[in-house]
Amino acid sequence: AAALAGALAAALLAAGWRARRFRATALDRRLTEALRERAFTLHYQPIADCIDGRVVGAEALIRWTPRDGKPVPPDVFIPVIEAMGRIGEVSCFVVEQVGRELGGFLRDRPGFSISVNVHPADLASQTFHACLRTCLERHGLAPRQLSLELTERQPVTLDAELDGMQRLAARGHQFYLDDFGTGHSNIVRLDAMPVHRVKLDRHFTASVGAAGARNPIVESTLEMIRETGRDVVVEGIETSDQASYFALRGVRLMQGWWIGRPVPAAQFMPLADRPTPVATVPDAATVTAA
Ligand code: C2E
Ligand code: MG
Ligand code: MG
Ligand code: MG
Repeated sequence: AAALAGALAAALLAAGWRARRFRATALDRRLTEALRERAFTLHYQPIADCIDGRVVGAEALIRWTPRDGKPVPPDVFIPVIEAMGRIGEVSCFVVEQVGRELGGFLRDRPGFSISVNVHPADLASQTFHACLRTCLERHGLAPRQLSLELTERQPVTLDAELDGMQRLAARGHQFYLDDFGTGHSNIVRLDAMPVHRVKLDRHFTASVGAAGARNPIVESTLEMIRETGRDVVVEGIETSDQASYFALRGVRLMQGWWIGRPVPAAQFMPLADRPTPVATVPDAATVTAA
C-alpha cells in the first residue's frame, strides 16, 4: 500500500509539473506575440512632495492584458520575459512610450521626471543607451527627466553594468534603488553606486502605525539611507497616518494609493499640475515608544 501511495504521489507530482510547464510555455508563446505586437501599455503613478503638496514626477508601470484574458500583473510576466532574454526590448519600449505619451508634457516641465524600471543588463546594453539618447533628442528632454529604477533584488554585479551605470549617471540620468530593504541590502555596495534616491519598500510602510508611535526598524533604516547622502522616497503610502509618520521624520517624497493610483497618461497629466494631499506633521513631542 505504501508503494502504491508513493507511485500515486509521484504520478500526481509529475502531472502537476507538466501542467505548470504547459502553462509556462503557453505564457511564453503569448508574450512572444505581445512583444511582436507591442501589446503593452503604461500607467503612471505620481511621486509627490507631501510637505508642499507638489507632484514632482511619476513612475511608469507596465500593463498587459492578453487579447483573450484578464490583465496579468507585471510581477508575473516580467520574470518570464527576463527568462526569455528579452527584457531589453521591454525597457526600450517603455522609454519610447514615455516619450510618445508624455514628451510634450515633459518638455513644458523641465523639473518633472518620469522613472522607468530597468534591468541590470540594460545598463551594459548599447541598444538601451541609444534608446535613451534617441528619446531625449526626439522630444527635447534633459537626461534628469528620465530616471532609472533598479530593484535591490537584482544587484548590479558585472563591471560592464556598473560602468554603464556610471556613464548614464555622468550624462545626467538619476538612479533610484527600488524595493530597498527586501533584497541584498548591501549598504557597502550602495555607497559605491551612483544612486540618487532610495525607494523604501512598501513592507516598511505597512509596518508603521500612528505618526507618534516609534518603529525602530523603519527609523534606523531611514537613518542609514540618510547617512549615505541619498534622498528617500517612501513607497506604498495608503493612509494619512502613514504619510504623517514619514513627514514627522523628515521624509518629503512619497508614492502610493493615498497620493494617487497608477493611471493612463491622459488621466495622469491633468492630475500632475494639481496639489496633492499634504501630510499633517504632528508635534515631534508626540513621538512615543511603541
Ligand atoms: P515597483 O517598481 O516597486 O512598483 C511599485 C508597485 O507597487 C506597482 O505595482 C504599484 O502599482 C504598486 N503600488 C503603488 N502604490 C501602492 C500602494 O499604496 N499600496 C500597494 N499595496 N501597492 C502599491 P505593479 O504596477 O503591479 O508593478 C509591480 C512590479 O513590476 C514593479 O514594482 C516593478 O518591479 C515591475 N514592473 C512594473 N513595470 C515595469 C516595467 O516597465 N519594466 C520592468 N522591468 N519591471 C516593471
Ligand atoms: Mg519601481
Ligand atoms: Mg518600487
Ligand atoms: Mg516594489
